[in-house]
Amino acid sequence: MTAPAGRGFVRTVLGDVEPDALGVTYAHEHLIVDSPLIEDRFAHIHLSSVEAAVAEVGECAAVGVSAMVDAMPCAAGRDVVRLAQISRGTGVHVLAATGLHTARYYPGRAWVVEEPADVLAELFRADIEDGIDRYDYGGPVVRRTEHRAGIVKVATIGERLSDAERRVFEAAAAVHRTTGVPILTHCEDGLGAVEQLELFRDLGVPLDRVALSHTDKRPDPAYHRELLSTGATLEYDQALRQPAGEPKGTAWLVAEMVAAGFGDRIVLGTDGARRTLWRTLGGAPGLAWLAAGFVGVLASLGVDEAARRRLFVENPSRVLTFRR
Ligand SMILES: [Zn+2]
Repeated sequence: MTAPAGRGFVRTVLGDVEPDALGVTYAHEHLIVDSPLIEDRFAHIHLSSVEAAVAEVGECAAVGVSAMVDAMPCAAGRDVVRLAQISRGTGVHVLAATGLHTARYYPGRAWVVEEPADVLAELFRADIEDGIDRYDYGGPVVRRTEHRAGIVKVATIGERLSDAERRVFEAAAAVHRTTGVPILTHCEDGLGAVEQLELFRDLGVPLDRVALSHTDKRPDPAYHRELLSTGATLEYDQALRQPAGEPKGTAWLVAEMVAAGFGDRIVLGTDGARRTLWRTLGGAPGLAWLAAGFVGVLASLGVDEAARRRLFVENPSRVLTFRR
């Protein structure tokens, strides 16, 4: 399934769709996070059940959500076959990621640390164009599925990028150049965003093709204005973790940035890799709350309906479109 050429397309695990087809989109989700390492060391984010995900995503669909980005990149607990099952089971578009996460996900995986940018870029390209490995680059055998990656995700820790991180960014820039894939980044504790954008600019990536995640962990309006002024998109995803009425919470920050004229550069997600956030696993408030409850908080802060539509529909559709 391939969308007509010319207007660009969004690549979901079940095929390419027109950007307009996405509708209300959650831009940074975690529907499956499953590997022996995750189970042993990060049990609080261990999400292995298609059934649970279908139930949780189904609650989101019931309140109007029609697309989600799964932000787990290569070899860190991703499972594209299960993502496709979740998409089929709910009717919600799901985008899968290629790329690499922070170093803590890869103990004992020498290739992640040692291979040069061009080798990583080829692994990312194959995920995007040929299909994601059903073994998630666990090696030695690679079996490409029919499910392709719709974003490349890269990550840094702190404000000084390591050589290993730079190498992964070089690979992402290279695969962006050849495929037009959108770029999503992880900013640990909300930091490092300025440095990430400087590096992408040096690598020749147009910054309007880049979305930076978790920056609402640092709700300093000056920091956000600096980032948004570059043309990059910010993905805010801390709302589900904040108590109601949090004075400098994500809703407040959204309202500030919309008022400052940056309402076309923000997308929203749950970063829901916490079992305690999933209603169907006994947690709260449930992933559906972002579309069902948070919008009401935004409205109460003066973010009007047209602005909310940009955050949830128009901005993600633009940011997630393949463009060279
Ligand atoms: Zn995440």
